[in-house]
Amino acid sequence: MRRIGGAQIRNIGTLGGNIANGSPIGDMPPLLIAAGASLVLQKGVAERVIPLEDYFVDYGRQDLRPGEFIHSIIVPKIGPDQHYFAYKISKRPQSDISALCMAMSFDLKDGVCANVRIAYGGMAATPKRAANAEAALENQPWSEQNARKAMLALGKDFTPISDMRASKSYRLQVAQNLILKAWLESKAEEPIHVLEADI
Ligand SMILES: Cc1cc2nc3c(=O)[nH]c(=O)nc-3n(C[C@H](O)[C@H](O)[C@H](O)COP(=O)(O)OP(=O)(O)OC[C@H]3O[C@@H](n4cnc5c(N)ncnc54)[C@H](O)[C@@H]3O)c2cc1C
Repeated sequence: MRRIGGAQIRNIGTLGGNIANGSPIGDMPPLLIAAGASLVLQKGVAERVIPLEDYFVDYGRQDLRPGEFIHSIIVPKIGPDQHYFAYKISKRPQSDISALCMAMSFDLKDGVCANVRIAYGGMAATPKRAANAEAALENQPWSEQNARKAMLALGKDFTPISDMRASKSYRLQVAQNLILKAWLESKAEEPIHVLEADI
């Protein structure tokens, strides 16, 4: 969150706006999707609750009916066995739009992954879960070998585009490498990368 915009943007921007604008490169949707968040949508006294990933239908199209607004965002508390990683890739640490953004969550019991959720921004027309990469890890030991299997599976999840921020091959390679980064970070005694200047 410290890498979203600059201090001015963080002081005034809202989570609701970050989701509602439907951007494929908004930073919070992948983080919240990986965390299993849901949206409470309200119109008058009528409310409905949807998983956040279902809100993003297609580029520029969200599941928001006329008159509805995002009333609240429900984020499950992190569980005792849950591991969570989030990475933003951009050319500057602050005040820069993501080339891509990734978040990953899973429960680890006896070394085996469950409830794997991996979400990316900047890899498709909407923020999106990586179903094949998730399946490669679900019910599997959290090992480098399986992290690399998930990296390979990611090639089936996304066909990213090239634009001024990154080429499609760079996007896919970095997206894959972020899974490896999560693996390495999970084994490191200290976080691999901390933005001291932002703390
Ligand atoms: C200089 C600059 C840097 C930025 N950097 C980043 C960045 O690093 N990462 C990033 O993700 N974004 C960035 N942004 C984009 C933006 O600031 C954020 O997405 C911010 O969170 C938007 O929130 P807001 O409250 O300002 O939304 P607004 O801009 O006020 O609203 C966005 C849209 O959503 C609608 N909306 C707002 N709230 C709701 C609601 N509750 N229910 C329904 N519709 C709603 C509005 O009507 C509007 O159409 C940047 C913007 C600027 C100008």
